[in-house]
Amino acid sequence: MGAIIGLIYVALNSRSGWYLIKGTNNPTTVSMVHFGCSKNLVDSEVILGLLAQADFVITPFNRNGRCDVLVVNTCGFIQDAVQEAIDFILEAASTKGENRARALVVVGCLAQRYGPELMTEIPEIDAVIGTGNVQNIVTVLRTVLSGQSTLAVNEPSYLYSHESPRLLTTKPYAYVKIAEGCDNWCSYCTVPAIRGKYRSRPVASIVQEVQSLAASGVKEHILIAQDTTQYGKNLDSDQNLACLLEKLCGSTGDGWIRWLYGYPSAVDVHILEIMASNEIICNYLDIPIQHVDTQILRNMRRTYDENSLRKLLDRIQRHLPGATLRTSLMVGFPGEDDKKFNKLLAFIEEAEFDRVGVFTYSAEEGTEASQFAAQLPAEIKNERRNILMQAQQLISLRKNRRRIGKIERVMIESTFAEKVLARSQAEAPEVDGKIQIVPPSAADTFVPGDFVKVRIIEAGPYDLIGEIVA
Ligand code: SF4
Repeated sequence: MGAIIGLIYVALNSRSGWYLIKGTNNPTTVSMVHFGCSKNLVDSEVILGLLAQADFVITPFNRNGRCDVLVVNTCGFIQDAVQEAIDFILEAASTKGENRARALVVVGCLAQRYGPELMTEIPEIDAVIGTGNVQNIVTVLRTVLSGQSTLAVNEPSYLYSHESPRLLTTKPYAYVKIAEGCDNWCSYCTVPAIRGKYRSRPVASIVQEVQSLAASGVKEHILIAQDTTQYGKNLDSDQNLACLLEKLCGSTGDGWIRWLYGYPSAVDVHILEIMASNEIICNYLDIPIQHVDTQILRNMRRTYDENSLRKLLDRIQRHLPGATLRTSLMVGFPGEDDKKFNKLLAFIEEAEFDRVGVFTYSAEEGTEASQFAAQLPAEIKNERRNILMQAQQLISLRKNRRRIGKIERVMIESTFAEKVLARSQAEAPEVDGKIQIVPPSAADTFVPGDFVKVRIIEAGPYDLIGEIVA
């Protein structure tokens, strides 16, 4: 499951306004920088919530600014993410001497994967907290501020709940992590080792969280996990994703429910029927297939093949015609020769997914696939990625152009600087395009989270333009 790598501290500074929270009797200031995917973002928000609750003063991160503690929540599932996080940590470590941050605390997936090494090789780090210890952030910071360095990394078992304080950073939408960990052990993936065994949150806790999010003005509740379709596997038998979706339908007011990261062979008819009978659930499916060649899928330890993928697409077409389909692909997996790659390309051109993310295979230390023969050079991986992205761009453009003239219900996402951006149920945040509303003045009366009707008047491969209709 791909992760979005990127720095989001800019957005946090300008959007959330949580730096308004002033501690009373504990003026310790904390800044945070977040890397990684939406699942890691929920951890960041819980960390900020716990710190604010303990009267730490949350201040916006500023490279040239000062804070008492700098918390870096890292991504670490592939080498690129590891390198990006380490580069940032080294930069922060180098300015620590100039009293920019009194203490440097590293959290998240990189911490879980390389905790002891980080402490040894970067002595400026005061604490390393693994993915299983997020809930102990306040205790660890107090220990660090008393002059003691800390390594808090163990078998991940933590799962936040509706009682966990959270500082939302993405309103009017919010991610709701319904489970943690993964038991699929795909041969190229480090996530099961970093995030631990699959563990679902109880339905009641998720319902309560969504109700309080809706009460706080959230208008799109995005259910996430490493594999959302495994939801409930460690709970009583009747708890699964379809039941959860059904239970949530009455909890969001007029807010949307979206779910992401479905495993192809687990997207069953029950889920599709619940979606078809509830307009509040976005008519949108995110199902990373990774590849289509049966041999490659077998070596990836994925439990489906080309034939079952075709049956899945038929099933979706029958039960959810018009649904927006997103997928993720991995190119350059060991043993992927031209014939296997061309089979993938042909499948993508035939299936016409609406949205496609393409990742190049990365031989990750500790994974089964890193020991496979026939590893491919980076040039071939990148070339194949570009070929697939170009093919998909034409498909997305063609499909987006078919929306011109159509009236769609969209949610206003932001109204910055004369630019009003919105999304329909067909666009997930951060990974898909946006609908720009023109003229911007037309949206003067609207705020983020409002639903409006627009007529699509222009379309690109990713973004669209719409005008408000009464
Ligand atoms: S389903 Fe596979 S790729 Fe996704 S997190 Fe689990 S092991 Fe990794």
